[in-house]
Amino acid sequence: MPEVRLDPWGRPDIKDYSRLYEVFGIRPFREVAEKMKSMGIEQSLLMRRGIVFGHRDFDSLLDFYKRGEKVAVMTGFVPSGGFHFGHLLTGKQLVYFQNLGFKVFVGIADAEAYAVRHIKRKEAIRIGVEEYIANLLAIGLDERKTEFYFQTSRKGSYHSLIQLFGSKITSSEFESIYGEITPGKIVSALTQAADILHPQLDEYGGYKMVLVPVGADQDPHLRLTRDLAERMKGEVELRPPSSIYHRLMRGLDGGKMSSSRPETTIFLNEPLEVARKKFMSSLTGGRNTAEEQRRLGGEPEKCPVFDFYIYQLIEDDNKLNDVYKRCKGGKLLCGECKAMGFSMIREFLEEHQRKLEASREVAWSIVEAPKF
Ligand code: SF4
Repeated sequence: MPEVRLDPWGRPDIKDYSRLYEVFGIRPFREVAEKMKSMGIEQSLLMRRGIVFGHRDFDSLLDFYKRGEKVAVMTGFVPSGGFHFGHLLTGKQLVYFQNLGFKVFVGIADAEAYAVRHIKRKEAIRIGVEEYIANLLAIGLDERKTEFYFQTSRKGSYHSLIQLFGSKITSSEFESIYGEITPGKIVSALTQAADILHPQLDEYGGYKMVLVPVGADQDPHLRLTRDLAERMKGEVELRPPSSIYHRLMRGLDGGKMSSSRPETTIFLNEPLEVARKKFMSSLTGGRNTAEEQRRLGGEPEKCPVFDFYIYQLIEDDNKLNDVYKRCKGGKLLCGECKAMGFSMIREFLEEHQRKLEASREVAWSIVEAPKF
């Protein structure tokens, strides 16, 4: 069987998500669905469609929540490009947990953007505020219940954690988690561990259970962070984080959706005509000719357009099922299907871009941007 390695900085191509259960000990998310139901918590769209497929310790997090103990959700964004539909997936999960009463922490990973992605400082700061924070506000994250910060301007004991973590891990352990590693990646990984764990320090609200919703490719950071939390025992009480894992949305070309390859995605501030051209040129799971498609049906399982429907655009399960059946049965052709998808994208973007205008100004006022 081929080796499975997850590279949080690379372009993962995960063919079989179930192997992540055996190889890394991620637990199937369906295990906790019943518990959520018994607590009266409705699953999000991503959970009920199996897009959130795995977890670590989510059941313990539910216990914390049930007992009324403090819970938070934390995520980081690397400001290396625009905010697109892939980021929206994570943003919606933050809103979902905020609505359940979780405190939200959002770290802008500007140190990582500089050290690993080689993004100029001023540009990373602008992207962090005007793309990530502004878009998160525009999709409904409540700034009064969210702590936004940049890694390099975070004050206080957050930085002590990064320094102390350095003595808790060897370079060969780093290599076994990440493969080939550079000093920039080591610092980034330790900083990410501090991002995830610092909300538990007294200075940031004290002991709590922290949930991290991530794409499956980010699990190496979670494994490192959980180990570091255990190794700090006796010095500071840090609970290993819980995490939930979502499948990665395919890019419009069928590969990884990435802001460094703009043709693979649609940015939320994109002019509508640019967005339309990209979406209408997307790869599909369609056949070579209309005649073949009518005869054999399409393959929505392989189709990036259908990913947009299932991950984001169609909330009603019956409607989604109808598109699936019409595609499989050869009743829906790709041109018509894409036009329908783009009309949904247009409707969303028109409204979102109006909100984005207003949220940009707010974004600058609620975060301490780094001085250099
Ligand atoms: S009809 Fe729609 S879902 Fe089916 S393969 Fe074509 S674009 Fe994809």
